[in-house]
Amino acid sequence: MNEFDLISKYFKPLASGFPGSLNLTDDAALIDVPEGMQLVITKDAICEGIHFIGDEAPALIAQKLLRTNLSDLAAKGAKPLCYFLAGMLPSTLSSSGLTRGSILSKKMDPRVKPEDDIVYFLQSFASGLAQDQKEFGIHLAGGDTTSTNGSLCLSLTALGLVPKGQMLKRSGAKIGDGIYVSGTLGDSALGLASSQAGQSNDGFLIRRYQLPEPRIELGLALRGIATSCMDISDGLVQDLGHVCKASNIGATIYTHQLPLSDAAKSQSNAILAALSGGDDYELLFTAKNLDVKSLPFPVAKIGEVKSGNEVKILDESGEKIEIEKKGFSHF
Ligand SMILES: [Mg+2]
Repeated sequence: MNEFDLISKYFKPLASGFPGSLNLTDDAALIDVPEGMQLVITKDAICEGIHFIGDEAPALIAQKLLRTNLSDLAAKGAKPLCYFLAGMLPSTLSSSGLTRGSILSKKMDPRVKPEDDIVYFLQSFASGLAQDQKEFGIHLAGGDTTSTNGSLCLSLTALGLVPKGQMLKRSGAKIGDGIYVSGTLGDSALGLASSQAGQSNDGFLIRRYQLPEPRIELGLALRGIATSCMDISDGLVQDLGHVCKASNIGATIYTHQLPLSDAAKSQSNAILAALSGGDDYELLFTAKNLDVKSLPFPVAKIGEVKSGNEVKILDESGEKIEIEKKGFSHF
């Protein structure tokens, strides 16, 4: 089976439910945008060694890639429509870090031939996508695959729909608005630290790192309610700084109001992880006079929009806290 046969075997089924994909048989996709709607488009790229360790099952890598994009759609109040996928696969998959973990165990099985690496990878990768397509109501609409001499890199572009003029933006927060976050913060950063330290008993936290939960329903419910919104991917304080800049406001947040999971609370650095840890993929939004009980998912008020342009962090006794590293930065 050559590369094209493999791709058509594993990826065509992912496109079959979406007419705009033309079943991956044409040069491009052709997408109808319903009257009165706008397309929201977002793109993310992930690379082995930076965004994933390489010994995760390929299905999990696929799901994280799709879900980080879905999280951006959620943050914009968009309903998922379709996605495009690009994969730069190491020319010898077996020479990359992917030889560790699950693939390694297959390679040690004398019945599995070395060239089966790519088959195993694509099979597992596509099964992860298939599972999430069902869960989040999105379809593959096109893509491209190349080989590379470097490590495995993947990129995904997701498209969603919003009624015209209703996309939630980072700009729009007003002085006096409350600042809210969904779910719990810091789990993912603590999970990554646990898995790097080989503490695989922190299952809940590691799962939160490997498999984010895009808050699609919440995003849809926040249309017309949130004055600004984004998803937290690089750490609360840094990302809140982006909202402040876009909205030309300042913010005060209170550490004792940060929502923490029980698993996070058992760790000494939970507050710092909640303030600056990456990969939360929870929604951060501002709103005025919000009734949190009217929303389809738990949210916590963590502070208020103020004048100025800085993010001020106060602890339980009202003391100002300075943190050295506000979040994740690639460069
Ligand atoms: Mg984002």
